[in-house]
Formats: sequence, structure tokens, C-alpha cells
Amino acid sequence: MTSLNFVDIPDASQRSFAQKMDREDPLKEFRGAFYFPKNEKGETLTYLCGNSLGLQPKRAREIVEEEFQDWAKFGVEGHFEGRRPWVSYHQPLAPMLADIVGAKVHEVVAMNSLTTNLHLLMATFYRPTKTRFKILIEKAAFPSDQYAVASQALFHNLDPKEAVVEISPREGELVIRTEDIEAYLEEEGESVALVMLGGINYYTGQAFDFPRIVKAGHKAGAIVGFDLAHAMGNLELKLHEWDVDFAVWCSYKYLNSGPGSVGGAFVHERFADNPDLPRFAGWWGNDPETRFEMKDTFIPAHGANGWQLSNAPVFTMAIHLASLELFAKAKMSRLREKSIALTEYLLFLIDTIPQDKFEIITPRDPKFRGSQISIRTLFDGRTLFGKITESGVICDFRNPDVIRIAPTPMYNSFDDVWTFVNLLKENVA
Ligand SMILES: *Cc1c(COP(=O)(O)O)cnc(C)c1O
Repeated sequence: MTSLNFVDIPDASQRSFAQKMDREDPLKEFRGAFYFPKNEKGETLTYLCGNSLGLQPKRAREIVEEEFQDWAKFGVEGHFEGRRPWVSYHQPLAPMLADIVGAKVHEVVAMNSLTTNLHLLMATFYRPTKTRFKILIEKAAFPSDQYAVASQALFHNLDPKEAVVEISPREGELVIRTEDIEAYLEEEGESVALVMLGGINYYTGQAFDFPRIVKAGHKAGAIVGFDLAHAMGNLELKLHEWDVDFAVWCSYKYLNSGPGSVGGAFVHERFADNPDLPRFAGWWGNDPETRFEMKDTFIPAHGANGWQLSNAPVFTMAIHLASLELFAKAKMSRLREKSIALTEYLLFLIDTIPQDKFEIITPRDPKFRGSQISIRTLFDGRTLFGKITESGVICDFRNPDVIRIAPTPMYNSFDDVWTFVNLLKENVA
């Protein structure tokens, strides 16, 4: 990929330059693997909303159709006779997920949905005692996460006002400082049972410093978990190496696996074979060797598989498979490299516009952001967003005043970025 110092390139703000970047993009072939939404005139829209719902891989329908065929042909025998036997449908997904999150294969599993997995893993890993009972989360976390941690506290007969501690940006600042998380854990760590942060905050786009937070959490004696909703398929993660205790994700954002599709979880291997860990069990989490003996005692399967509840939702996993095959081909390291180039280019172009009507709230340092850039509007943001949408760009607006843009490296182009900024420029002039 060409140099990222766009400021030093005389024609970098020209559309022709963006198109040249696209021609040189080693990942350009992947754009053709997805369906792009169109308007009523049949014109293709510019899609910058992969942080909310990723686009449909063209191959997804084919794999789902194959499962329909196997169901029709085999009935119940499809569990064993199908071309991808349903009884072990989740298994081939694990190595691909492990590559994406930087884990060992037995540390990951595709299952359930994000919030369900959050609860399941908190059932195991949030074990408050009289003195150590707090959950540390980021201020203004995604509502589902706030409800989940508060309800876990209530479940243990604790008052969420005391048990849930929110860490905020400093007065006048936009994002949370890692040293403030460390300082809290240094001072109050003895009372913290669980550090539970989003890998990337959905609103500001801030990416957290995983290794430093894990270190600080562990030093305080707490468990450290991450909600990877916005980090999965976006950042280059090394969950195993960073020593994260557990993590959960959904697959319909950057992972392009379809609305409400199957989620996933990571459990560090140090918990892989501990039958004494409390958990909410189901038959699919039982050791596959004895699962069909239908015994009355639960023997957890090795690793993350031991947290499964139910048999595999084959149809959403079929879509997931289509998408993960693309990730295996594209590779997270290359995707991340392109993602940084796209956001650097986006910020470079935005900086050519006078910024008296908006400000960027996402950290400028690529280490602390993924594909998403959040633009806070300082005037009537809804109207601006409406105009951009009418002109053919799909992005999103979060109350009260933020437009979120996420050029995703799998299928977005430098020209998409140029198109958006050109509209922004026209509409704030
Ligand atoms: C998208 C998102 C969710 C959604 O949860 P589901 O259980 O998949 O509906 C939850 N938390 C965060 C941080 C998210 O970004």
C-alpha cells in the first residue's frame, strides 16, 4: 500500500488519486464478493455502515441453499450425512475464528448471540464476594452491556449503583485514558471482581489498550473480559497472548454474517479443563464423547466448547461460514493495514474542510481506533446526516449529535471515502 503521508502527496485530495489507490489495493477483489444496496433508481449506494450491519457475501445464499438441500434429502440424517454434518457444524468455524481473534482453536466457539454469551460468561466469571464485588465498565457503554452488568449485580442481590463502576473520560476530554483505568485498579482494585470493557466503544470509536488493561486488572486480582462487538473482524487481536480471560462477540457487524446471526466467545485455555467452574450448562456443552449417552450428570467439554447450550443453528452458521472463508483468504493483518490506510485517508480529506461545524471524536492515533470514525456535529447534525443519506451514502447517526462512518477494508474503497467527504464538504459549506 502506498505511503500514508497523504499530506505530502500533491494530488491526494483528488478523486483520481483515490481511484489510483483502489487500483493498487491488494484486497480489491473482495469488493466483488458482496452485494451492495441500491436506491430505487437501481444506483449502487456508498455503504459505510459495516460497523452496524456488514454486507451480504454473495456465497452465503449458496451455502444456505446447500443446507436446505441436505435437510430435504436426509431429514434427521443430515446431522451425520450432510456434506457439512450438522452435529459438528460449529467445529470448522473455530480455526477461522481463532485466527481472527488471535487464539488457540479450543479457546473459541461460535454460539448463541452476543448478549446471551455475555450473560453466560458472567455467570462463570463474575463471582462477587463481600469484599470483591464491583464490575468496572466504560461510561456510556452500549445499552445492552449496561443492562447485562446491572442485571448480573441484581442477580447476586447487589445494588447496581454500588456494584457497577463506570469509568469516564476526564472533564473536557472525549475518550477514556488507559492510565485512568490503571489508576482506578491500583487504588480500588481489591473491590473489583470483573473488568468488562468494550474492545472498541460503539459511540466514540475508541479502541482500548487490551494488554495494559489486562495487566492492570490481573494485578488487582480481577477477571478481565471484553465485549468485542465492534472489535471483531476489525482490530488485529491477540486474545491469548494478551492473557484476556474471556471475550464475546456478534457476527453481523464487521464479520458480515447477517442480521442476528450466531455470535461467539473466547475463554482462555487456563479455564479449559476445570469442571468446578460454575456455569449455566446445556447438553451441547457436554463432552461430545458422552453427550449422546444422555447421562444425568454434566461433564463439560474441553475449552470454550464447554459453554455451549444448544445444538448448532445451522442456517446462520452457514452464512457465518461463507463470511469466515473470506476472512481466511483476506487475512486480518492485511485487512487491518488497509483499514488504517482508509481511515488515515478519511481523516486527511476531512482535515481539508474547515472544522467549525463538526469535530472528530475518535482518537487520531490508529492504535486507538478501528475502522470507525465518529464525527460530532456542532450544529443541526440530523439535517446534515439526512442530506448525506439522500445523496446516496449509507452511514448512521447516534443521538444526540454523532455521525458514524466505518469504511471497512473487506469491501470499501478509497473512492467510497472520497465520495463521503466530498458530500460532507458540500453540505457544511
Ligand atoms: C451491537 C452490540 C450489541 C448487540 O447485542 P446483541 O446481543 O447482538 O443484540 C451489544 N453490545 C455492543 C457493545 C454492541 O456493539
